[in-house]
Amino acid sequence: MAYYGSIEAGGTKFVCAVADEELKIIERISLPTTLPEATLAQVFTFFDAYELKALGVGSFGPIDVNRKSSTYGYITSTPKPGWKNVNLLGALKERYDIPIAWTTDVNAAAYGEMHLGAGKDTQSCIYLTVGTGVGGGAVVNGTVLQGFSHPEMGHISVQRHPEDTLESTCPYHDHCLEGLAAGPALEKRTGLKGQLLEPDHDVWAVEAFYLAQALMNYTLVLSPGKIILGGGVMKQTHLLPKIRESLEQQLGNYVALPALEEYIVGCDLGDNSGTFGCLLLAQEQYA
Ligand code: ADP
Ligand code: ZN
Repeated sequence: MAYYGSIEAGGTKFVCAVADEELKIIERISLPTTLPEATLAQVFTFFDAYELKALGVGSFGPIDVNRKSSTYGYITSTPKPGWKNVNLLGALKERYDIPIAWTTDVNAAAYGEMHLGAGKDTQSCIYLTVGTGVGGGAVVNGTVLQGFSHPEMGHISVQRHPEDTLESTCPYHDHCLEGLAAGPALEKRTGLKGQLLEPDHDVWAVEAFYLAQALMNYTLVLSPGKIILGGGVMKQTHLLPKIRESLEQQLGNYVALPALEEYIVGCDLGDNSGTFGCLLLAQEQYA
């Protein structure tokens, strides 16, 4: 029997899984991301035990997704030591002579959630993770959105909150979403890690303001059926209603949004959004 494989290649960990035809997960492992050669050796050991039909890979980035480019399949300009300009897809193709789907970790998560999770009732959705960084993926009319490259939704410019003087944590931009609203920004602003901040802390209003501002912009540009939020910071469940409220305020009544409790939601698949997305993309490669 042949299986579908999934690799969620993250900067902290690689999650590998194997599933059957019905996408029932047979085995799943999580490996720490060390250096490319050592990490890949472990990935190969895991998959070598199976006969694979196709593989889906959702990778941290930036990555090259342009099939015409000579560096298609590479992780490109990451600050992660050892991973800059690494031909990840090439290494996998050399090992496994099977169709391999290649996209970003967040595009894969968006795809997984749209088909099997919170976005089941729509054909277009955005998945945004708010963690160590902020990253977003989009599925538009059933297809993962990629153009000359992939979206970099975490680095859009946001207007500063009037009371916020934090120096951005993004080395490239002094007022981008990630630099002002990712976990490290929360920590720099308060001196406490996000998980230690109480729900009634003032910082959550600032956080909600930035995230809502970003969601407003995504909404105005893409008009998705749903926006799904994940990542460590979103474990603060009180944040969702604060974001909805701020979105409503910032947007005014210009666009009639769907019911906000259904439009801005958490993820349904927990830690498996990306894995299921990769498996679905693998399945499609084979079709
Ligand atoms: P990564 O982005 O590295 O894949 P996470 O999504 O877990 O991993 O994000 C880690 C970031 O999220 C850290 O900055 C951490 O402080 C923050 N974080 C993790 N859990 C919580 C929580 N419960 N509340 C707020 N922030 C959190
Ligand atoms: Zn930035």
